[in-house]
Amino acid sequence: MPGEKILLVDDDPQFLGLVQEFLEEQGYAVVTAPDSRQALDAVGREGFHLALVDLRLPEVSGLDLLSHIKAKSPDTEVILCTGYADLDTVLQAMHRGAYDYLVKQNLRLPDLQAVVARGLEHRHLALRNRELLVEIEEARDELARRRAAELVQIRRIGESLSCPLSWEQIIEGLLNLIWESIPLAFLGLELRGEGENLPLQAYRCQPGVAEEAIQTFKSFLQESLGQGRVYPDAARAAQCQAVLPGVLWAMVKAGETLGLIGAARETPFTPEETELFRIFTLQGESALRNLVLYEQVRNLAIRDHLTGLFNYRYFWDVLPHEIRLSRRYGTPLSLLFMDIDDFKTINDTLGHPMGDMVLKTLAAYLEGAVRQADVVCRYGGEEFVTLLPQTPQNQALALAERLHQGISQLAVPLPQGEMHFTVSIGVAGLKPGMNSEGLVRAADKALYQAKETGKNRVCGAD
Ligand code: GH3
Ligand code: MG
Ligand code: MG
Repeated sequence: MPGEKILLVDDDPQFLGLVQEFLEEQGYAVVTAPDSRQALDAVGREGFHLALVDLRLPEVSGLDLLSHIKAKSPDTEVILCTGYADLDTVLQAMHRGAYDYLVKQNLRLPDLQAVVARGLEHRHLALRNRELLVEIEEARDELARRRAAELVQIRRIGESLSCPLSWEQIIEGLLNLIWESIPLAFLGLELRGEGENLPLQAYRCQPGVAEEAIQTFKSFLQESLGQGRVYPDAARAAQCQAVLPGVLWAMVKAGETLGLIGAARETPFTPEETELFRIFTLQGESALRNLVLYEQVRNLAIRDHLTGLFNYRYFWDVLPHEIRLSRRYGTPLSLLFMDIDDFKTINDTLGHPMGDMVLKTLAAYLEGAVRQADVVCRYGGEEFVTLLPQTPQNQALALAERLHQGISQLAVPLPQGEMHFTVSIGVAGLKPGMNSEGLVRAADKALYQAKETGKNRVCGAD
């Protein structure tokens, strides 16, 4: 390449002049030196792409000069100029890093030109090679960094999504995961379904994002879900893209619950980010599905099959817990013990299936008639208990009277026509020193009294 710098070292002025003139004609920048000392000075001053060095020089030999040049400037290609007699030495020179040699006798200038051009090309390739090696090394480092980051993300998926067991915890974990792994301006999630505490929504937003943009995205998520669509409306999505061009979304479905997650920012997403978003949302979806399964299994264990009310086992789990809360916060706690009057006769006269219908009608009424915090359970057969937190016995008695009254007016739809039934209720409030068994015994005793004194009535504990 023209302009490349060549150092020419020879003690023969005629050879020096001839070669210098020829190389300069080719466009090279040539510096000459008649001996090794001046040659080393030149190398110390400036860098050369290539050096043409006479093997036989006064004082320091061409071979030693070669070593000095290579030590000082390893990227300078050195070509030795030699006579036939010195060919043995040339081998040594090649070992010390010379690129090639030229025989001075009968030297043809085109041969000189070819060797110089090859030497420079070799240098160029060697440098390019080294650059490529550095690039490969950097790419490998980058790959290792990314791999490490991916492993961290996989670990975080596990941490955020595999242990928690509430809708809120999974949604928090999922949004944090996405928010911290992908740079976003906006991230939102809407859930619709039947489960406890649904619908749910959660949003993350960078400060400075226009309120109008946020509203566009929120209504995109809400209305897409409102329509119960599996895929959001394309025209709506285009509206979002007009506000923030980078838009990603994913539907999640867990049991009867449908969710839509949307992410947005100014710049488009890379394929890696899109894939990461997909992985996170799929993992979130599978965590929600596991939760639905867990809730279903748990419901099987704590719910009564016929009425859907909590069962005996759940009652005995929750009762000591409620007693502890009552003691800790000094709040009253009462218990209703209810039994259908002459239920055996209902069964015997109308048949067992109709008896079941009575049980279901009563269960549905009780659930609707008490507060959210009250716990209605089917204790067994035709016996029901209702735990009333923060309720003293006198208020529990009033409630029992209201229920007793309401139940007597319940019309059970039967093929033969409507039928009515009555209940007896025992009421007991938690007293100091009373445990779970004590409270149940007191309510049961009050119920026994109600039965003994004629049924179809409410009795309070002493
Ligand atoms: P009392 O007024 O004294 O409470 O009399 P009772 O007839 O209501 O009480 P008893 O204990 O003699 O009878 C309860 C009946 O409830 C007997 C049992 O077969 C019936 N039973 C229990 N579980 C079920 C059920 O799941 N479905 C139906 N249809 N009947 C049930
Ligand atoms: Mg009974
Ligand atoms: Mg009964």
